[in-house]
Amino acid sequence: MPQGSITTPAPAAATSDRSETPARTRFAPSPTGLQHIGGYRTALFSWLLARHTGGQFPLRIEDTDIARTVPGAVEAVIEGFKWLGMEIDEGPEIGGPFGPYFQTQRRDLYPPYAERLIRSGAAYRCFCTRERLDQVRQSQIARHLPPRYDRHCRNLSEEEIARNLSAGQGYTVRLASPLEGKTSVVDALRSTPIEFDNANLDDAILLKSDGYPTYHLANVIDDHLMRITHVLRAEEWISSAPLHVILYQALGWEPPVFAHVPDVLEPQGGMKLSKRKSAIPMLEYRERGYLPEALFNYMALLGWSYDDKESILSREQLIAAFTLERVGVAPARYDEGRLLWFNGYYIRQLSLDDLLARTLPFLERPEASGGLPDSVTRPIERDYARRVLALEQERMKTLAEAPDMTSFFFVDTLEYPAQTLIAKNMDASATLNGLRRSLAILESLDGWVAAEMETRLRDLVTELGLKPVQLFSSLRVAVTGRAVSPPLFETMETLGRGVSLSRLRQAISTLESLASGE
Ligand code: GLU
Repeated sequence: MPQGSITTPAPAAATSDRSETPARTRFAPSPTGLQHIGGYRTALFSWLLARHTGGQFPLRIEDTDIARTVPGAVEAVIEGFKWLGMEIDEGPEIGGPFGPYFQTQRRDLYPPYAERLIRSGAAYRCFCTRERLDQVRQSQIARHLPPRYDRHCRNLSEEEIARNLSAGQGYTVRLASPLEGKTSVVDALRSTPIEFDNANLDDAILLKSDGYPTYHLANVIDDHLMRITHVLRAEEWISSAPLHVILYQALGWEPPVFAHVPDVLEPQGGMKLSKRKSAIPMLEYRERGYLPEALFNYMALLGWSYDDKESILSREQLIAAFTLERVGVAPARYDEGRLLWFNGYYIRQLSLDDLLARTLPFLERPEASGGLPDSVTRPIERDYARRVLALEQERMKTLAEAPDMTSFFFVDTLEYPAQTLIAKNMDASATLNGLRRSLAILESLDGWVAAEMETRLRDLVTELGLKPVQLFSSLRVAVTGRAVSPPLFETMETLGRGVSLSRLRQAISTLESLASGE
């Protein structure tokens, strides 16, 4: 092994989740925006690993980049976890034994570690001004060199340092990264360590001049102090991992198991899923009528698989089955069609009471927000809505579709173009005749049961020498105002005798005026 090589302990990394010692994983977002499916997917893997091994899943907010902090981002991430049913074991709001869980509240804890690194020679004070750093960067760019700190302050003499300090000059603390050799990052998802030439590493800033730590320092210190055993995070952090390995080594700490999980890509092309394109904040899925069960199951399969066949897996099954071995390194692709498929599946699994409870808020929203027409009285009658949903459950892909799909069950008057009453290969008078005969039959029924209506009207179809669709599509438009609806006779049964007959009479008079105008 070349001199200066640093490596994480391989056996621990490769086997620790198999040996099922409780894993303490964490999600450590920077609150610089709203998390989308990519971030939650990574968090879900961490959560599943913690649950699978009987460990814990803390939430830590990496908010030291104060200028970029977005108000509401922390609340949103917590709300997202609640919605998805991913309980957090420690974190903001609930606290825990390793708090506080906001890095800004841990601020005083980091500088002593920076001092310790300076004393051991693993870090140094950098007094360079922003202007100087800009100049260095510009000249490197002009010479087509990678922009990196030129290590100007790395070898300042004790006297120079003392002079700068007594002159009150501000400074940052930088990592004195090894100049030669390699740093290896052992990653649980990759069979061979990822090697970095130390010569390419930057002397990254660890502590800013305002005393706040950078991501690298705070992340390493907190993962250690919070006793994190497994760091699952996005692939984009691989390039930071050697710095972290060096820091663990310099502080004399054992690094956690690293697992850099594959990216989630845009539906098309090789780009990472991004807010600027297809990604939406997690809670937006709730607004759009997705079920948390569907998101949970769908996200679990973005980069992890149970086997090639099984895709429907409950929370319990996922917890039981999740191991890092089955997390791949190939990127996953976001596919909204597949997510919708999962959503439809989970909607069909709901009991009617559960479906009703989850759908009512969508039905009762104001019309402008996608709810039923404002003319429909709120609150909606529960028993009736339950029977309506029983008919629509099969076809529903999202809860948010319910108002549009079911509005004809709730409104007083239907609006539809008169022409749509006339089926293919029919004319106004044949349609009128069919509907009048249907009305007479339906009026004569003692009860109002789908099966009986169907038998009687099928007899009528035969008698009139029509195909079923020629009569039934007219009847469908008459009672629902649309060409597509749940099964016709169940729909009429649910609408009830009074409403169905009056809509049929209305359709007949509409056709009569159409015919007389012809
Ligand atoms: N704060 C980093 C982020 O926002 C965390 C990376 C890590 O998990 O180490 O993604």
